[in-house]
Amino acid sequence: MATIFTKIINKEIPADIVYENENFLAFNDISPQAPIHVLIIPKKEIPTVNDMQEEDLEILGGLFLVAKHLAKKLKIDNEGFRLVMNCNDYGGQSVNHIHLHLIGGRKMNWPPG
Ligand code: 5GP
Repeated sequence: MATIFTKIINKEIPADIVYENENFLAFNDISPQAPIHVLIIPKKEIPTVNDMQEEDLEILGGLFLVAKHLAKKLKIDNEGFRLVMNCNDYGGQSVNHIHLHLIGGRKMNWPPG
């Protein structure tokens, strides 16, 4: 089912887009948890990690390459950053369109809450 991220992909609602190509979109999180908090999404609608298929391998790998590219562009590649993908209720997923959180600009804590 389409989510708010589909509306962002289709430019029906605005977002602070930092990267876009044929298959991916990246935009600043509306509620940033760190100085840098970007959401990287495939344009293909895949609701959760549970829905990933073999045929999605290239898209899924591509999410990480976009993350690498943006980390360098945003100059957080050397100091480091965190990539997070939540799944369903216990994982803390609130939008059912897979997305990689690229979080950086401060030191992260571990374990997560
Ligand atoms: P999740 O909790 O599913 O892992 O992450 C969803 C993220 O999407 C949250 O960090 C939330 O702040 C962000 N988010 C939800 N709605 C919007 C929106 O309309 N615009 C933007 N830019 N971010 C959103």
